[in-house]
Amino acid sequence: MNKLFVFMIDALCSSDIELMKTLPHFKQVIEEGSYVEHLYPVHPALTYCCHTSIVTGKYVDGHGITNNEFLKRGVGSSDVWFGKKEEVKAPTLLDYAREAGLTTCSLSWPVSAGADYTYNMPMIVPYHYHGDHPEEYLYGNATDNLMDAYFWKYGRYLKGANHNLDAYTMAIAPDLIRDFGQPDVMFVKMCDLDTMRHHYGVHHEMVDEQLQKHDEEFGVLVESLKRYGDYEHTNFVIMGDHGQTDIEDVLNMNKVLQLAGFMKTDEEGKIISYDAYAHSAGLTCFIELANPNDAKMEQRVKEFLEGLKEDTEIQLAYVLDKKEMKETYHLEGPFDFVIESKRNISFDFRENMQMKGIFRSKEPGDHIIGAATHGGSPHRAEHTLFLACGPSIKQGVILKEADMVDEAVTMAAMTGFAMPNTDGKILKDILK
Ligand SMILES: [Zn+2]
Repeated sequence: MNKLFVFMIDALCSSDIELMKTLPHFKQVIEEGSYVEHLYPVHPALTYCCHTSIVTGKYVDGHGITNNEFLKRGVGSSDVWFGKKEEVKAPTLLDYAREAGLTTCSLSWPVSAGADYTYNMPMIVPYHYHGDHPEEYLYGNATDNLMDAYFWKYGRYLKGANHNLDAYTMAIAPDLIRDFGQPDVMFVKMCDLDTMRHHYGVHHEMVDEQLQKHDEEFGVLVESLKRYGDYEHTNFVIMGDHGQTDIEDVLNMNKVLQLAGFMKTDEEGKIISYDAYAHSAGLTCFIELANPNDAKMEQRVKEFLEGLKEDTEIQLAYVLDKKEMKETYHLEGPFDFVIESKRNISFDFRENMQMKGIFRSKEPGDHIIGAATHGGSPHRAEHTLFLACGPSIKQGVILKEADMVDEAVTMAAMTGFAMPNTDGKILKDILK
């Protein structure tokens, strides 16, 4: 049986392929293997939704991770993100690998806390955490073998204002391969390309520099497998979770709802009551009705949103109700409509009800209202990539397009086990 090694680069864009062809380690994968030029993410194209679809082969309605933030009816905006593996309502590729008797490893993968993997270091420390005790989030959520072996010397990378998850991940990964041997199935996730794009926009020299760093990191991991693992019998996958889009404007959709009479606030801007509430998903926005059984109000809100298609500034591209979003995008959750603009508008996730207008300025670096963001529908540019090479992969096949739900079954097939009941199909054209 061949082993599987997956290198995830958050916000790797389709257009990155040209630079990747010039970087020594990525270039080798491209030249020896095959790739998909336009890998379409799921709706919404957010990190947690996409990562969960990648490992389950399911759309959002099949795995239940509807946003990065944990959404619940009646609670407004939330600072709490999804985190626990038990929140995922479908088995993952690593679950099936374990059942097939394989050892499994997941480093810095979202929504994997507490997973029953052989080696697990979940992405669970909140990204705004600047304290000195990140272990509070990790103990009980990461596997004890990795905490015991590495936290004492590498935990410092997660502390303070300059914490860096990628540095932590890259410290653990080569040591783990040396100390425990190469796991049969290993997923390693890097974050900083996404961070740079939120800061500087989709294309920028700082972004290119970061992709070069990821190439070096990938090179270190390949060298670790050559030294301590079974390099010859390893299938390599390099992938992203979504692209990004440069943002023109940030829209406060709750302000729009307030001005239209669907929300009441007090003098300090605190929301007193609402008929409809907006949850940002970056480039898309979910609208939640206070009473989803109030058909009259549902119709009023729908008509209002439909009218925003003609608004010269907001220019909505579509308004989908629950039935339509499920049929079109396999999307369902604790909300009643999903909307997206034709323009490059990001939806603000803060309430900010005291602001005068409906648009506000960007905050470079912010994951939703930065220079660039994501969270749109699957075919919105940019898309992402899926590259593979190794003993099970043909050389030189370039597929024009594929869907994110195809990745799990394809990776399982190249490793030698099946994943029944997914939404995807095996990308047979790249397999030997
Ligand atoms: Zn992401």
